[in-house]
Amino acid sequence: RAKARGRRSYCFFETEMDVQLRARRTLEVQLRAAHELGQFEVHYQPWVDLRTGRIDGFEALLRWTDPERGPVSPAEFIPLAENIGLIVPLGEWVLQRACADAARWPAPIKLAVNLSPVQFRSGDIVQTVQAVLGASGFDPARIELEITETVLLEDNATNLSTLHALRALGVHIAMDDFGTGYSSIGYLRRFPFDKIKIDRSFVSELPNDIDCLTITRGVAELAAGLGMSTIAEGVETVEQQEILRAIGCTLGQGYLFGRAMPAEAAEALLASRRTAAA
Ligand code: C2E
Ligand code: MG
Ligand code: MG
Ligand code: MG
Repeated sequence: RAKARGRRSYCFFETEMDVQLRARRTLEVQLRAAHELGQFEVHYQPWVDLRTGRIDGFEALLRWTDPERGPVSPAEFIPLAENIGLIVPLGEWVLQRACADAARWPAPIKLAVNLSPVQFRSGDIVQTVQAVLGASGFDPARIELEITETVLLEDNATNLSTLHALRALGVHIAMDDFGTGYSSIGYLRRFPFDKIKIDRSFVSELPNDIDCLTITRGVAELAAGLGMSTIAEGVETVEQQEILRAIGCTLGQGYLFGRAMPAEAAEALLASRRTAAA
């Protein structure tokens, strides 16, 4: 009897897996189709200088609305796009689209674009970035490429030299989601990032969690000492903003300052800020 029950639950499990696998395949097919049909959009989330409250730049964030499913989170579809290699052409398209949109922003407003580790290892990322930037005419000094520590996880010389080659194009490099996964302080020594993005998981626990406060302050001090700027991700309250400013964090990004918005809205926001400042 135990055997029979065991087999039955095993069969049930297998079916569940089949269902999940099929759903995944479907999503993959739809992702490819969406890319071919041009159904992706890029939205822009502002980040601000914590001392002045002024907008310093916008991060490009990919958006996909499936006709049946509605909006699908990048947290769900980016890993799939990475698995099937679609992230390489898709990521190139994001950079292109974002440079074209950002060309309408007043200098010195900056543009940040996320680079997947898969794009990073694709072999011609440096040529791709160079070609896209060249064609767009957007000032490379106003561009930040955000990478995650997975890029440095494999301690190989190729990844390091890719980072240096990208930097040589004149762009800035930011380490995204610092403090999660396997990030190590050693990375900061191995490659001089321009900016460290302190992960939202630390910021969201402020001000009540003393450990998060200590870590955030420590990272801000460390970064400043190494000549890097720091940006706090996921700032949602005025209280968090004030604490971050007090502990020497230079920049902030989060729903308090604005969510990711379509290009036209970002442009309108910049225009209204300018009028207000004048
Ligand atoms: P990320 O690069 O760390 O982007 C920040 C994420 O946090 C965004 O989620 C943003 O909407 C969200 N966020 C910002 N402020 C707040 C806040 O105050 N509270 C909360 N709860 N969330 C906030 P999103 O757009 O869903 O993107 C998720 C991740 O997907 C990104 O994390 C990034 O790793 C990836 N991603 C998005 N677009 C691209 C892309 O074009 N290329 C690549 N390679 N990855 C992308
Ligand atoms: Mg990012
Ligand atoms: Mg991030
Ligand atoms: Mg994060």
